[in-house]
Amino acid sequence: MLEKTAGSNETKTYLPSIYSLTLEQLQDWMVEHGEKPFRATQIYEWLYGKRIISFEDMTNIPKSLREKLAEQFTITTLKTLVQQTSKDGTMKFLFELHDGYSIETVLMRHDYGNSICVTTQVGCRIGCTFCASTLGGLKRHLEAGEIVAQVVNVQKALDEQNERVDSIVVMGIGEPFDNYDELIKFLKIVNHPKGLHIGARHITVSTSGIIPKIYQFAEEGMQINFAISLHAPTTELRTKLMPINKAYPLPKLMEAVRYYIEKTGRRVTFEYGLFGGVNDQIEHAEQLSALLKGLKCHVNLIPVNYVPERNYVRTPREQIFAFERTLKKHGINVTIRREQGHDIDAACGQLRAKERKEETR
Ligand code: SAH
Repeated sequence: MLEKTAGSNETKTYLPSIYSLTLEQLQDWMVEHGEKPFRATQIYEWLYGKRIISFEDMTNIPKSLREKLAEQFTITTLKTLVQQTSKDGTMKFLFELHDGYSIETVLMRHDYGNSICVTTQVGCRIGCTFCASTLGGLKRHLEAGEIVAQVVNVQKALDEQNERVDSIVVMGIGEPFDNYDELIKFLKIVNHPKGLHIGARHITVSTSGIIPKIYQFAEEGMQINFAISLHAPTTELRTKLMPINKAYPLPKLMEAVRYYIEKTGRRVTFEYGLFGGVNDQIEHAEQLSALLKGLKCHVNLIPVNYVPERNYVRTPREQIFAFERTLKKHGINVTIRREQGHDIDAACGQLRAKERKEETR
């Protein structure tokens, strides 16, 4: 593939990542190239079981096939630029993509295991007024293989500590439903028993509310956890916080969520960021309770994380608890998100897609 490198006029060839192929696609590739389909499973074992990064190391694969693969694919296209560990054990990775852009991935430590937060786009075009990821707009979508590579690279770092990535949250930079097809491929690859085999129930996808994709996602038949960034109990307030509410207004969003729950039988999570003085009053908690009454759902309250370019302030602790109590009083399941990785800017909404060229300027 010929392409231009970000920010320069240089043209270079780049081979797509083999991580972008589902097992079925790799089997088809084998057949098309006169090979036996079982080779695909063997290769998956090398890629995701042994996590090798060179075709040459695939010792049970005939040399001719290894050469053919190396002519058409690379394995990983990510280069680790920075790896930081926070006081609480949270790790943040800055990866460079083949075209010079860079993305961030975070690994969080919980008592129930290690959870990786992956990025799906370089930047974001949704424009939420509180989020750092959208500040520079959208540069490009990630390919499935670039999302898979984040998990493999972090797993390789954990291999050194004999630990594993137990769960995935698709909550890094970008709007996953704005890059839908690659997202679905990514989910199939990491979920596959011959791949990284991360159980669907250990994977969560979060969206700002692209309604047509919610209907589509309901038909995928995957047992993936699903979260909606709600942030406001009324459509007027939601529009102020999230411009996407103009195209996909709250009443229609709730209709889509209801359809999703009915179709899948699964509980959804609503993320509700508490922005001081904006949406964090008891009155809002009452409105939110009324909106969600009777729905099979869970609310995750996220105290706002500081973003220098944004003006939002934190809700005082007592008020956060009062908000939580109000929801509980109405029988709504609610938790307050534990904050991690503050000292390395790895918390929700603080990730930013930096172009390396800009960083070094
Ligand atoms: N684009 C997807 C995935 C991002 S998930 C989505 O909107 O759902 C990250 C979560 O953190 C979202 O709920 C997002 O709205 C929230 N968030 C963004 N900026 C934040 C901030 N400054 N403080 C707290 N939460 C924030």
